[in-house]
Amino acid sequence: MNKVFLCKETVRDETRAALVPSDVKALSAMGYELAVQSGAGLGAGYTDGEYEAAGAKIIPELDEGYRFADIIIRVNKPDSIAGIRENTLHISSFDVFGEMGAIREYADAGIKLVSLEMVPRTTLAQKMDIQSSQASLAGYYAVLLAASKLPKIMPMMMTPSGTISPARVFIIGVGVAGLQAIATAKRLGARVEAFDTRPVVEEQVKSLGAKFVKIDLGEMGQTDQGYAKELTPEQIEIQRKAQAKVCAQSDIVITTAKVFGRKAPVLLTKEMTAQMRSGSVIIDMAVKTGGNVEGSDPEKDILLDNGVLVVSGDGLERLVPKDASNMFSGNIFAFLEHFWDKDAKSIKIDAGDEIMGGCLITSDKKIIHERFMDK
Ligand code: NAD
Repeated sequence: MNKVFLCKETVRDETRAALVPSDVKALSAMGYELAVQSGAGLGAGYTDGEYEAAGAKIIPELDEGYRFADIIIRVNKPDSIAGIRENTLHISSFDVFGEMGAIREYADAGIKLVSLEMVPRTTLAQKMDIQSSQASLAGYYAVLLAASKLPKIMPMMMTPSGTISPARVFIIGVGVAGLQAIATAKRLGARVEAFDTRPVVEEQVKSLGAKFVKIDLGEMGQTDQGYAKELTPEQIEIQRKAQAKVCAQSDIVITTAKVFGRKAPVLLTKEMTAQMRSGSVIIDMAVKTGGNVEGSDPEKDILLDNGVLVVSGDGLERLVPKDASNMFSGNIFAFLEHFWDKDAKSIKIDAGDEIMGGCLITSDKKIIHERFMDK
């Protein structure tokens, strides 16, 4: 299995490409045979000519690409799997939680499904981690987006005409996206505060020059993969109360608080947003998985009656498609390189391998991942 086909994305507003020409070139040199669907890179600024020069064959139609491919690469899962051949390895982001029907479809069709979100969070697999690579860019962009919508500037400015105080930014959830958001807001001169339920985060927040908001929630912690544990309803209530005051004094609130495989907790209720100042901007980066902000909408921004703007923080990495594609492609390259068997001139699919076993969901017409397996 060495024939790789890069598909053009069909999801609305998707701008990224899952492989960029420089990685196509490196994979070709390794022994993979590459084909690219015409126009696949245009949203990210890469032409068919650049892919061709990197060693790929350009295929105009999807069906033809499916007939060519042993391995299909794309950013998002497709609307339909019609035409994908049995035994093809399908690699993309794939929201596997709550998608049992779709997983079953891949199994029944005999497609080997790799969900990139399920790549284990180990040191070895870090370079294949699309969640981190994309979240860094999204966190950076969230601050730029908020700043562009704010009716004031970010830094302090002392002029003969008067002194402007710095914008106050509150970041809730300091994982990969939150850390980048803190760093970006600091660089723009804002006064930054942050909170996360994982105690290890306090030092990281301080090292970026931001203030850690202390909230005593009792027993907290993180999973062995570094993810937050789910809070009890009582803990969430304590957190909301403690945060309300900080939110009311903030010009920008960016929420990134997710819980892997579960709905995101609502951390800003309507009562809390009602107490915020007119002109403040909230960016809800967890909006797609339930939302941290009551009433936020992944599809549109909402201006509340009190003049607070609630902005959808969904898919912000798509607004910087060149870097997002380069990083996503780097993750795919690392995956294909890691599993390349140079003697067999093929990718090696071994469900017993820690990384492959962590993200391979279906194989041999069965759901093989233990988290989703039929009981
Ligand atoms: P994530 O996207 O699942 O969540 C974002 C943040 O929200 C996390 O920091 C989480 O603790 C926080 N959160 C959850 N509930 C909250 C609540 N009620 N209030 C406030 N904050 C809340 O997480 P992520 O950004 O993908 O990463 C989490 C951790 O995993 C980070 O420390 C990261 O460095 C680590 N990580 C490790 C690897 C690796 O070892 N390969 C790879 C990626 C990330």
